[in-house]
Amino acid sequence: MYKLNKKNKDNFYLLESIDKKHIWHPFTQMKEWIANKQIIIDHGQGNYLIDTEGKSYLDGVSSLWVNIHGHNHPYINNAIKKQLSKISHATFLGLSNVPAIKLTELLIKIVPQNLTRIFYSDNGSTSVEIGLKIAYQYWQQHPQSLHHSKKKFISFTTAYHGDTIGSVSVGGIDLFHRIYKPMLFETLKAPYPYPLKENLSQEESELKAIKELEKCLKANHKTVAGIIIEPLMQGASGMINTSTQFLQKVKALSVEYNVLLIVDEVATGFGRTGSMFAVEKADIQPDILCIAKGLTGGYLPLAATITTEAIFNNFLGDYLDYSTFFHGHSYTANPLACAAAIANLELFEKNNTIEKLQEKIYRLITDLKEIEKLPHVAEVRQEGFMVGIELYEDKKNNKPYAPEKRIGFLVAQEAIKRGVFLRPLGDVIILMPPLSINPKELKLLLETCKKCIIHITQK
Ligand SMILES: *Cc1c(COP(=O)(O)O)cnc(C)c1O
Repeated sequence: MYKLNKKNKDNFYLLESIDKKHIWHPFTQMKEWIANKQIIIDHGQGNYLIDTEGKSYLDGVSSLWVNIHGHNHPYINNAIKKQLSKISHATFLGLSNVPAIKLTELLIKIVPQNLTRIFYSDNGSTSVEIGLKIAYQYWQQHPQSLHHSKKKFISFTTAYHGDTIGSVSVGGIDLFHRIYKPMLFETLKAPYPYPLKENLSQEESELKAIKELEKCLKANHKTVAGIIIEPLMQGASGMINTSTQFLQKVKALSVEYNVLLIVDEVATGFGRTGSMFAVEKADIQPDILCIAKGLTGGYLPLAATITTEAIFNNFLGDYLDYSTFFHGHSYTANPLACAAAIANLELFEKNNTIEKLQEKIYRLITDLKEIEKLPHVAEVRQEGFMVGIELYEDKKNNKPYAPEKRIGFLVAQEAIKRGVFLRPLGDVIILMPPLSINPKELKLLLETCKKCIIHITQK
């Protein structure tokens, strides 16, 4: 009926009409989607996305925070093709596979030394679900029965850990999560530092949050299984950062009160903060580490939940002890995805990706200083290659824009018009380019972002 890749208008309209008639897009008001012209991506090249009409867009958000080395990279493509000619999928229940084992060897070398056991799944949300279930079951099977009451989780306000019900339970983004409240399990909430909203300095805000967390642990530690945190940078809440000291204090409290620390590096992992993992910057060791997004370089869905040998050992027993971790997915440790992940990690090494990133981060910081001066930019928050630019109606009087103004959305629309793909979070403009972005493209990204903010906020 129709041919993909044919650059002609009829083809576009046909594709668009099928999309609008039958597809339900994520995090999208479909009424609005259906009413407007949409972009349909045909292919990618380097740090650009190219649509069915041949228009290209600099990928300013790494295709929702996943892409690392650019699109259509021959090295990752070849690794997938090579694996494709062997086998695309074999179950991990009762079998192992070569790419999964090779990937494991590489991952164990780069994660904190105390983490030795990898449980694979397919996306960030499942990696968190698995982390929560492992932590819960760990205490249930603890040889000391007094620990069996450790069943609850402490999570932070404004946290985002994914969209499945367990990960929503430990989430704290009211807009996304409130409707599901009756479906969720109970958690204890610790306030996450958000100095802009609290009108406090970073230090004061963090001190206050730590005090609250300590109070919560003191009162509840006997019933708490673990604390879950996005390290250094909360992502989906609009890039809200903390100091490394804050993370270190959370770690220290988890040790003092004997609760597990689950660190969700789904967004921060694989170089985004300027180190391979955010926990490296704070020099802390989590009990459970969740990774996904950048694991395959942004090519295929794959996630991992990585734990210590001590946690793993609590699951060992005779068959009839039923201390097995009864969890798995059809595509656990998919060989194609693992092959892509291996190629991704090899590229990090071959290209000195992390080392080369430092100069780009320096340039990014310099250019962001210009954006920070704009009259409607309330705050620029940045950690490595993760940036949130929060826009306010009135900076002096601490007044955000009314949501119906849709300022963030308008800025992103303007950027897209000018050939840069952005996806904001409310009125926070997000910049999270692929680590492979070159200085010229980075300049273009920041200049376009600045021009669009000026265009929309100062008209
Ligand atoms: C994106 C994200 C998730 C969820 O990952 P999905 O692959 O979208 O399910 C979980 N935690 C954090 C911190 C994330 O940024």
